[in-house]
Amino acid sequence: GFVAFEGGDGAGKTTQLDLLESWFKEQAVPYERTREPGGTAIGERIRSLVLEHDQGEVDPRTEALLFAASRAAHVVQRIEPALIAGRFVLCDRYVDSSVAYQGVGRELGTEAVAEINAFATGGLQPDLTVVLDIDPAAARARREGRAGLSDRIESAEDAFHDRLRHAFLARADSAPERYLVLDAAGSAQELQAAIRTRVQELLRQ
Ligand code: C5P
Ligand code: MG
Repeated sequence: GFVAFEGGDGAGKTTQLDLLESWFKEQAVPYERTREPGGTAIGERIRSLVLEHDQGEVDPRTEALLFAASRAAHVVQRIEPALIAGRFVLCDRYVDSSVAYQGVGRELGTEAVAEINAFATGGLQPDLTVVLDIDPAAARARREGRAGLSDRIESAEDAFHDRLRHAFLARADSAPERYLVLDAAGSAQELQAAIRTRVQELLRQ
C-alpha cells in the first residue's frame, strides 16, 4: 500500500502522519514513512537547493524539474523497493504537490507538470491520497502559531494558497476513488479516525 498526504502548508499533514505511524507501530504493520521533496540523499539535497533562501530564487521550470528529479530518485530508490518488500509507504506530499505548487502556484500549467511527473515516477500512483483541505486563513493561523521562520511559500498571501487549495481539490475530483478529502478544520482525532477507516481497507487487501 502506498498512501500520500497532500494539502497546503499548515493543513496538519505531519500531525496525521504521526498518528497513523503510531497506529502502524501498535499493529506491527511494516511501513516506511518518507517525504517530498526529499526522501533520499539526493532528494534532500535538491530540497535544500530549492527551498533555502540563500540559494537565491529558482525559476519555475528549474524548480519543477528539480522536484521531479527528486521524485524520480525517491520512487526508484525508496518507494518501489519498500512496496516490493511488502512495506506500507506513508509519504508526506507527492505529485499533487508539484501540480499545485509548480503547476498552479508558479503558473507552469497543471498538464505540463503532470506530464513531467508521469515521466519521473514511471506512472507510479498512490493507492490512496489523503487531501487535508483547509481554508487559507485557518492554515495561516496555524503556521503563525508554530515555531521557526516561515519560508517564502508559507508566508505568501491567502489568495495564493487558495489557488493551491483548488488545485488539490481538482486532482481529487479527477479520480475520486483514489482520494480521501477531509476538512482539516476537524479535530486531529476525528481526522485520524477517518484516515484509519480508509487505510484499514488497504491493509486488508
Ligand atoms: O511540506 P513541507 O513543509 O516539507 O514543504 C516545504 C516547503 O516546500 C513548503 O513551503 C511547501 O509549500 C514547498 N513545496 C513546494 N513545491 C512542492 C512541494 C513543497 O514549493 N512540490
Ligand atoms: Mg511546511
